[in-house]
Amino acid sequence: MRELQSYPATQIVVQPRSLFNQRCLFSDWQKGKSKLGLRDLEGALTARDKVGVQDLVLLDAHKSEGAVLDNLKTRFSVDLIYTYIGTLLISVNPYKELDIYSKKHMDLYMGVNFYELPPHIYALADNAYQTMLTEANNHFILISGESGAGKTETTKKILQYYAVSCPSSALLDTVRDRMLMSNPVLEAFGNAKTLKNDNSSRFGKYMDIQFDSQGDAVGGHILSYLLEKSRVVHQNHGERNFHIFYQLVEGADEDLLRQLGLERDTEYYNYLAQGECTSMKTINDKNDWQTVKNALTVIHFDDSDIEHLFGIIASVLHLGNIYFDRDFKGFALLGIHVQVLTKALSYRKIEAKAEEVLCPFTVDHAIYARDALAKAIYGRTFTWVVNHINESLENQTVIGLLDIYGFEVFYVNSFEQFCINYCNEKLQQLFIQLTLKAEQEEYEAEGIEWEPVQFFNNKIICDLVDEKHRGIISVLDEECMRPGDSTDLTFLEKLEEKMGHHPHFVTHRLANKKTRKTLERGDFRLLHYAGEVTYCVVGETALSNTRINTEPQVMQQSKNSIVQQCFLPDEGDGRRRPETVATQFRSSLQELTEILMAKEAWYVRCLKSNDNKNSGKFDDALVKHQVKYLGLMEHLRVRRAGFAYRRRYEDFLKRYKPLCPHTWPHWRGVPSEGVEKLVQHLGYQPDEYKMGRTKIFIRYARTLFATEDAYEIC
Ligand code: ATP
Ligand code: MG
Repeated sequence: MRELQSYPATQIVVQPRSLFNQRCLFSDWQKGKSKLGLRDLEGALTARDKVGVQDLVLLDAHKSEGAVLDNLKTRFSVDLIYTYIGTLLISVNPYKELDIYSKKHMDLYMGVNFYELPPHIYALADNAYQTMLTEANNHFILISGESGAGKTETTKKILQYYAVSCPSSALLDTVRDRMLMSNPVLEAFGNAKTLKNDNSSRFGKYMDIQFDSQGDAVGGHILSYLLEKSRVVHQNHGERNFHIFYQLVEGADEDLLRQLGLERDTEYYNYLAQGECTSMKTINDKNDWQTVKNALTVIHFDDSDIEHLFGIIASVLHLGNIYFDRDFKGFALLGIHVQVLTKALSYRKIEAKAEEVLCPFTVDHAIYARDALAKAIYGRTFTWVVNHINESLENQTVIGLLDIYGFEVFYVNSFEQFCINYCNEKLQQLFIQLTLKAEQEEYEAEGIEWEPVQFFNNKIICDLVDEKHRGIISVLDEECMRPGDSTDLTFLEKLEEKMGHHPHFVTHRLANKKTRKTLERGDFRLLHYAGEVTYCVVGETALSNTRINTEPQVMQQSKNSIVQQCFLPDEGDGRRRPETVATQFRSSLQELTEILMAKEAWYVRCLKSNDNKNSGKFDDALVKHQVKYLGLMEHLRVRRAGFAYRRRYEDFLKRYKPLCPHTWPHWRGVPSEGVEKLVQHLGYQPDEYKMGRTKIFIRYARTLFATEDAYEIC
């Protein structure tokens, strides 16, 4: 953790009570460094007392969840959406534009220590950056919170901060622009309106930003995780397909539309109109189309790539409109002969006695094959876009940004929600391991004794899902690979057999009388760390995903260069045992965990202020629930059970030496002995502090307050 900075007394202009004041801001302003006006500064200062504490660690130790909530609410009511727990940043979604992200704010936070200014995402970004430079090690920022809480917005703010604030040279501007421009493109292809969020990420993103030793941002690399492909062919009521489809139909000029054989009518397309909300107030598809088109050019997609890309998007729309008694005009866009594709979508190959027999699909099967193809084309194109962006960026690692779809519960939850919530479960586990680990390591390194805090460890739920040979994913694998007629219901039966007694797993059959009423026969329910979620396994995509495997051979015949790159010749030849989607996801999360464990962690916990996207509304119950499941209270307790503050002996002495005649004006001995003299003079009780190897650890914030008060008076 970063240290509190000491300031020479001569710079102090105002004397507010707490350590977390704006005095430095004043002195900087005097020195002309800060570009904020006097009114801003006065505002910041007078607001301080009415706005609760900036760091929850400063609340009195006996105060509980209620006090934490009150504090967040008070701050939220005056648009202070950020609050710390130590170096962890809490952000409460304001659902309105705040004037706190301008260039002048970026300048203000640059190079300034954590506690010198009000909490801000720039403070965290800057501290990660400064620590990376001084310690020359890798970092990552884990941004978590449920769907709609503000993770993607936070990620963008951090990226903008690095892009704008870090030293610049003309050469690097191109890389920087590309990094920034990757956002609108990935959002167009990977985000969609859901009931929870008008711009919900339907894929996980991990982005490394690489800096050179001067601190210049010189490159980046993006990893993407499990795109929610089912959305291409199906959307729930009130939801939309991925933004790019609407952007193309609304934004493309007449020539392009004609070339792609498209109507300018989103309602016309089955794949766009199911949710019955093709257009909406918060999204301007036409403008976004221009942004995405420009962004594609900046990140080096050439004309032919762009043409092929739009060809694919259009062909997916056409696919969705195929009826099996009609000619299909969209195949030309994929560059595949009409008969070949029609055959692939209408017949199934069956191998019987070393012969291949073509067996016609029923209409339902044909629609199923069509949708599977649309999902495969879109999913692979998305991966191709990510890879293409990566090619335009350099590739080394230093600060990683993780923005993954948040925990979500819908009325009906399917395989996608299962994966998304499992992912959040893993990240929570990582958070637990790293925060406790880091704290413990510091005490160990400093030779300080401490008693571990009790907290809910969600490892039991992670194991329930991903344990080898025993977890839900393994059962799913077995069912998918089993020859014969495994169905969604046999899968459920297997789960019941294996997980029957698990405290976090329940089905209709296993439930007690009361719970049973809330469960359907085809459901299973998991008690996640963030709450209960009931998953519906009927029509489970996971089972089918591995079964439909006819498309690679057909798609390889395409003349569209992107399609060719997406479907490789050695696929689908039956020699490799295909991995299920769930297994692939489990492995990629494992790799991600390893990437993150090798770096130093910073955390942003995003909270949703209300469920209706209303600006200024703070829903107490909703925030309380999030505070609880995100483990913020435990985190606070861990920080407190140990020691509220720690400071290096030199820094402590430098600041407080005027308080003791033995140390003032100079202490010539060993710093730790000077600190010992100082705290004894101040009357610290033995339980209030511990002397570590290099730092003094102060248990209670109030001890530090008292010292600070004495300092201000003196
Ligand atoms: P998901 O898991 O669904 O992707 P998310 O956590 O990424 O959700 P965002 O898309 O970042 O959520 O935020 C949802 C909406 O909330 C944004 O579109 C924006 O309107 C609003 N919002 C979030 N953060 C801020 C902020 N700091 N200032 C203003 N508005 C914000
Ligand atoms: Mg998001």
